[in-house]
Amino acid sequence: MNVPLLDLVAQYRAIRDEVLPALQAVIESQQFVMGPPVVQLEAAVASLCRAPHAIACASGTDALLLALKALRLEPGDEVITTPFTFFATAGAIHNAGGTPVFVDVEPDTFNIDPAAVAAALTPRTRAIVPVHLYGQMAALERLLPLARARDVKIIEDAAQAIGARRKIDGQWRMAGELGWVTGFSFFPSKNLGAWGDGGMMVTADAAVAERLRKLRLHGGAKQYHHDEVGTNSRLDTVQAAVLLAKLPHLVSWSGRRREIAAYYTERLADLPTLQPPVVDPCNEPIFHQYTVRVERRDALQAYLKSKAIGTAIYYPVPLHLQHCFSHLGYQPGQLPQSERAATEVLSLPVYPELTRDQLDYVIDAIRGFYR
Ligand SMILES: *Cc1c(COP(=O)(O)O)cnc(C)c1O
Repeated sequence: MNVPLLDLVAQYRAIRDEVLPALQAVIESQQFVMGPPVVQLEAAVASLCRAPHAIACASGTDALLLALKALRLEPGDEVITTPFTFFATAGAIHNAGGTPVFVDVEPDTFNIDPAAVAAALTPRTRAIVPVHLYGQMAALERLLPLARARDVKIIEDAAQAIGARRKIDGQWRMAGELGWVTGFSFFPSKNLGAWGDGGMMVTADAAVAERLRKLRLHGGAKQYHHDEVGTNSRLDTVQAAVLLAKLPHLVSWSGRRREIAAYYTERLADLPTLQPPVVDPCNEPIFHQYTVRVERRDALQAYLKSKAIGTAIYYPVPLHLQHCFSHLGYQPGQLPQSERAATEVLSLPVYPELTRDQLDYVIDAIRGFYR
């Protein structure tokens, strides 16, 4: 048997007849940039996230970059984030002119530790960028009061968390509902993936929504009139059409991912060498990844590879120890939870099209390795 980490061809086969006609309609219209499906997708994502405004852009990286640019950071301005994330989170902070300030993660959820955020706030802090890692929301209810007290903005990196929600004060809140601006990614491997790059920003702030619309079009709402210097970061109409065709499946795909996760956890929970993902009881995650903490991680990964089972390490080098950030002066040992996680995590296949046979094969292989 062969179990790849992700099988987008299986997804394509299941939805081909819905996506191809939508794509053909775009081609017939020849409106490849900012055509009507882009506006429809913005409305659909805004409604999903219960956010009043959604602004499509070219990638998840750009969604974060434009949100951070909207802050008009000055040299020396600090943005607090987690080092245990995809590079884009911190790269966007740097490219927007800010200084990333890395704080450690909670050992159970791998999400940013609000107590560490509180300790890292300074008069130069302009924003906090929590990442909803692996599709599970960070503890926003503990970050929001910190931000409010200091007039600091929260920019949610929800690239891995479209449709995730968290119960706060007895109410379900969607990823993207509470942050100042939230960035989503439609990279093909994300839970809602385009057939190329794509991204979305959502916000409840009408003024920043208007600025983000300008920033993605060279800083001008009116053609050839530029209020500030923006960039070209639009979503292709073909990508919007693909995403609109896929969007009605998202709820059932996320449900299937949760079922698969529950099955893994039930069948692996007795292994003393393996810690299944810890779901905060306040959270309904979407399992962008099913990531376990294991002993002898690299040997397990090699063993699973020999059995044709795909796995991945998200992420092997925490960002505070990346060469490009060496000027920030972080030392090994400074953010121990992130560094330990980087040596212990392993993500297993969790896409909705996995069969029961494939799941059992993965589970048996893991159990066999530790026997
Ligand atoms: C994928 C991802 C991004 C970047 O999204 P792109 O669309 O690939 O630019 C940013 N942050 C996190 C946490 C991601 O997983």
